Amino acid sequence: MDYDSLLDKAYEALPDKSKGGERFEIPSLDAFVEGNKTIIKNFSSVLQKIRREPAHIIKFFTKEFAVPATEEGDRLVLHRKLRIELINKKFDEYVKSYVICEQCGKPDTHIEDSGHRSKMLVCEACGARTAVK
Ligand SMILES: [Zn+2]
Repeated sequence: MDYDSLLDKAYEALPDKSKGGERFEIPSLDAFVEGNKTIIKNFSSVLQKIRREPAHIIKFFTKEFAVPATEEGDRLVLHRKLRIELINKKFDEYVKSYVICEQCGKPDTHIEDSGHRSKMLVCEACGARTAVK
């Protein structure tokens, strides 16, 4: 087999990326329960992936779970025993509401304060602006 046909084979083996481009995969939180606390081990590294401030997601979690949360280094400590699947389910909701662009599905977004207590999710990939809570 010559080089060109090897190359063709290699291309054929690649997954089909033509539809909608690369899909963003929501990172999952690595958490465990310790006593009465639930500790998210990879909190800061996941936040870097989704480019969000800790304060915003901490506010979301404390509201959703009705528990106090504290940042301890790279970890986030939720002061109650919680199911890990539930934490990841809520985190998925957070990412879908506050990170992923509704129009193009890309995570290249930021939140802009548009005054009057309203916020906009602004997409850097396609320019879409969506109101968020
Ligand atoms: Zn977009």
